[in-house]
Amino acid sequence: MNNKALAALTFDDGPNTSTTAQVLEVLKKYNVPGTFFLVGNNIDEQSARTALSAAEQGCELENHSLTHSAMSDMEESAIREELRVTDEKIKAVCGRTPQFFRPPYIAVSDKMHRCIDKTFICGLGCDDWDESVTVQQRIDRTLEQICDGVIILLHDAKGNDGTVKALDGIIPKMLEQGYEFVTVSELFRRKGKTPVKGEMYSVVE
Ligand SMILES: [Zn+2]
Repeated sequence: MNNKALAALTFDDGPNTSTTAQVLEVLKKYNVPGTFFLVGNNIDEQSARTALSAAEQGCELENHSLTHSAMSDMEESAIREELRVTDEKIKAVCGRTPQFFRPPYIAVSDKMHRCIDKTFICGLGCDDWDESVTVQQRIDRTLEQICDGVIILLHDAKGNDGTVKALDGIIPKMLEQGYEFVTVSELFRRKGKTPVKGEMYSVVE
């Protein structure tokens, strides 16, 4: 029986060849996996290679929409298209269709919950999309919020060096505290929970 606390590191807004690649280097250094929520429109020939290397290093690629728009006011057909095209682009990269969806800006509506055939993943963030949040604040805010089963929400948008540096504080501290890092699907599996479609999770207990 393994009683280690579990945590999933997740990264939004990639892929890109710079910051995504730097995040992968840090994950590799500590031998931990991550889950990347990709924006379909950010997948091009170059960034697809970076995304593929993420998958090859044990990370999961999931869906963060096609255009990164707030989708809560969209028509059903537009919502479905955001999901479908991004699914196809991700499947073309890694051969696997995403199981999870992170809504841009965590904007959701009943319509989205009805017509998106995936489990919604939120997570606990440290506002790392905001440049004015320092590396130390990113580390401190994250470490203040963690608990067993936590999904940690970070961003690997191009140029977000602060989060690359913060990872070098967050990961070793959490390892020291006895956390084991897993992908989001592994988190559900290890907790013995079936991800429910249309529901949103920040912690898997
Ligand atoms: Zn985003």
